[in-house]
Amino acid sequence: MSRPLVAVIDSAALQHNFSVVRALVPQAKSFCVVKANAYGHGLDCAARAFSASDGLALIEIENAVHLREKGWKKPIVLLEGFFDPQDIQTIAQHNLELTVHCPEQIDMLARAKQDVPLVVHLKMNTGMNRLGFKPKAWRAAYDRLRAISAVRSIKFMTHFANAEIASGAHMPIAEQVQRFQQETTGLSGELNLSNSAAILLHPELKTDWVRPGIMLYGGTPGGKTAEAYGLKPAMTLKSEIIAIQQIDKGDAIGYGSIFVADRPMKIGVVACGYADGYPRRAPDGTPILVDGVRTRLVGRVSMDMMTVDLTPVPNARVGSPVTVWGEGMPIEEVANASGTVGYELMCALSLRVRVEEK
Ligand SMILES: *Cc1c(COP(=O)(O)O)cnc(C)c1O
Repeated sequence: MSRPLVAVIDSAALQHNFSVVRALVPQAKSFCVVKANAYGHGLDCAARAFSASDGLALIEIENAVHLREKGWKKPIVLLEGFFDPQDIQTIAQHNLELTVHCPEQIDMLARAKQDVPLVVHLKMNTGMNRLGFKPKAWRAAYDRLRAISAVRSIKFMTHFANAEIASGAHMPIAEQVQRFQQETTGLSGELNLSNSAAILLHPELKTDWVRPGIMLYGGTPGGKTAEAYGLKPAMTLKSEIIAIQQIDKGDAIGYGSIFVADRPMKIGVVACGYADGYPRRAPDGTPILVDGVRTRLVGRVSMDMMTVDLTPVPNARVGSPVTVWGEGMPIEEVANASGTVGYELMCALSLRVRVEEK
C-alpha cells in the first residue's frame, strides 16, 4: 500500500471552469495559462481539459516544446519570451508565440538569422513595473519590431497589478487600461489583456485575448470565494488519519511543543507535511476536514505529518479520510490562515505526492 496522500485532479472541474471563462467573456479568445505544471495540476491533464481553448500560455520553453510534441496544434505563447538567442530557433521551429518585454530581446531578435515568421506579444508596462516597456517607450519598441523581417505580427499586451481590488488600489486597473489605450489606439493589432481577476471583475474590458490562470483551477485571485463565482476546485488534496493520540491536559504536541492541551483531547495524525507542499507556517486553527467534518490543525506541521484536533469527530479512526484542501475545503481558506494565496499552495504541491486524474 502506498502512502494515503493523493492529489485528485478533477478534469471535469477544469473543463467547467474554462466554460465559466467563455461565458464571462464570450467575445474573447483564451490563452489558458498552464505555467508551473498547470499550477500544480499536471501539464498534460490540463492541456487535455482545455482542448477547446484557443491557445495555451506558459513560461517554460521546454514545456511548450513538450506540448507541441504531444500534438497541441493551436497557439502557445511564452509569457516571458526568451532568455537566450538560442531559444529563438526553438521558438521558430515549434511555432511558438513570444512575449517581448525588454530592449535586449529586440536586440537579440534583430541579430538572429532566421526567417521563419514570428508572432510577438509586445508588452507594455502600464504600472505593474515588472515586465514591459513604459508607455512612452512602447511605440519605439513597436517600430523597431516592425522593422525586423522575421516578425510577422504583433499583438499588444499588458498585465494588471490590482484587477481584483474594487477600489482604492495604488495602481487601479482603470489607470492601467487608460495608459494602454492611449498608446495603442489607432494601431492595428490584437489586444491581450486580462488575467483571472480582470475576467471575473471586469468582463466588459475590450480585449481580443484573455489569459485566465487561477480561475481555471478553481481558485480565486482574492475577494470572493471561488464558489461565489461558480468555479469548482480542480485539485483535492486527500489523505488519511494514520495514528491517533489521546492526550491529557498539559500535554504538548509535536516539534517545539507549540500547542499545549487545556483539556484531554483526541489528536489525529495526518499523512501530509511540508515536504508535500503543505505550508509549515500554517498556524493552530487552520481548517481541515476529517470524515467530512471541519476541524483544525494543532501543533507544528512537520515534514511528513501534521496533527489535528479530533474533538468534533469523535468517531474518527486510523484510516478516516482527510481533505487537506479542495472539494469541501476551499484552498483559499487554508492559504489565508497561512498568510499566503491559493496559487502558492497549488504550485508548491511536491513531486512525491501521487497525482490521480478523476
Ligand atoms: C500567470 C499569468 C497570468 C494568469 O494569472 P491568474 O491570476 O492566475 O489568472 C496571466 N498573465 C500573465 C502574464 C501571467 O504571468
